[in-house]
Amino acid sequence: MKTLIDKAAETHSLEYKEILALIKDNSENEYLFKKADEVRKQFVGDEVHLRGLIEFSNVCACNCQYCGLQKDNSKVERYKMTVDEIFETAKKAVENGYKTIVLQSGESKVYSIEELCDLIKRIKQLDVAVTLSIGEKNEAEYRALREAGADRYLLRIETTSFKLYRKLHPDMSLSRRMACLTFLKKIGFEIGTGDLIGLPEQTDESIAEDIMFFKEFEADMIGLGPFIPNPDTPLKNEIGGTFEKALKVMAITRLLIPDANIPATTAMETIRPDGRIIALQSGANVVMPNVNETYYRTKYELYPNKKCVNEDADKCRQCIEEKIKSIGRTIGTSQGFRVRHNAK
Ligand code: SF4
Repeated sequence: MKTLIDKAAETHSLEYKEILALIKDNSENEYLFKKADEVRKQFVGDEVHLRGLIEFSNVCACNCQYCGLQKDNSKVERYKMTVDEIFETAKKAVENGYKTIVLQSGESKVYSIEELCDLIKRIKQLDVAVTLSIGEKNEAEYRALREAGADRYLLRIETTSFKLYRKLHPDMSLSRRMACLTFLKKIGFEIGTGDLIGLPEQTDESIAEDIMFFKEFEADMIGLGPFIPNPDTPLKNEIGGTFEKALKVMAITRLLIPDANIPATTAMETIRPDGRIIALQSGANVVMPNVNETYYRTKYELYPNKKCVNEDADKCRQCIEEKIKSIGRTIGTSQGFRVRHNAK
């Protein structure tokens, strides 16, 4: 296994069978995490980019089976922040030092594209990068959002297995998702995507395929987190993913896409104390602290016991900064775009 890990760390290229072997064998996990940390340092340095996350509406028209916000979950108290409220939240985050604002919501039409474009233009005047995580739209809408100034788009695939995707997303299609990603890339967005690890019926084989996809698609940001069953969803009785497996998939991804931005996800912290710090020491270089008011945070529960929902934004920022500095890392001072290094 060490030979395989060294090969990945030096060439940033593995065959499908080799990725699969790495996923299946746990005998050298510590070595894998160490090498992923070294590759992270070599390619993206010691800076940790903080992205200020605004979850601006939990209204959603989709029924992703793993998600607490799915439209069939009647227990969720739905909210929609006003455009002015979103802007004021972004402004406060920028005053607190954030260089990127991430606008995230369920997939819905509760805001018109014109409203979103106006909001993006206002936030761009604050001299920050804007990332959107608002789901599937048509091409004209994507184009309008890009022209309004949005820089990045997050659209997770969760799995590249067509069979599993269909099961988890009864009213959606993986082909359509891939087409969205391809179009977003074509019109100049930096692309973020990612997986949930530990989904029911997910296999090591399909995870290996997912990693191949991230590399072939040249994703700029890859978010990987454990699946945590939500008691108000059809998957409530499933076992869920483990921290170690999610960390491992993240570390392999760092070796193969050395210059990508890889977040230490909140889901990792939810199932393991200091999960984000461990992730930052195993290949990650991004953290996305929530900058919402606590009133809204408690209503955006994709999964249960989500970390930091009761902390206010200032406290959250201070807490994560202290942790980052305690491991000898620094806070990113740029907008944190991917810097390509021409790795194979
Ligand atoms: S994952 Fe996103 S699109 Fe799917 S149900 Fe949850 S909020 Fe809606």
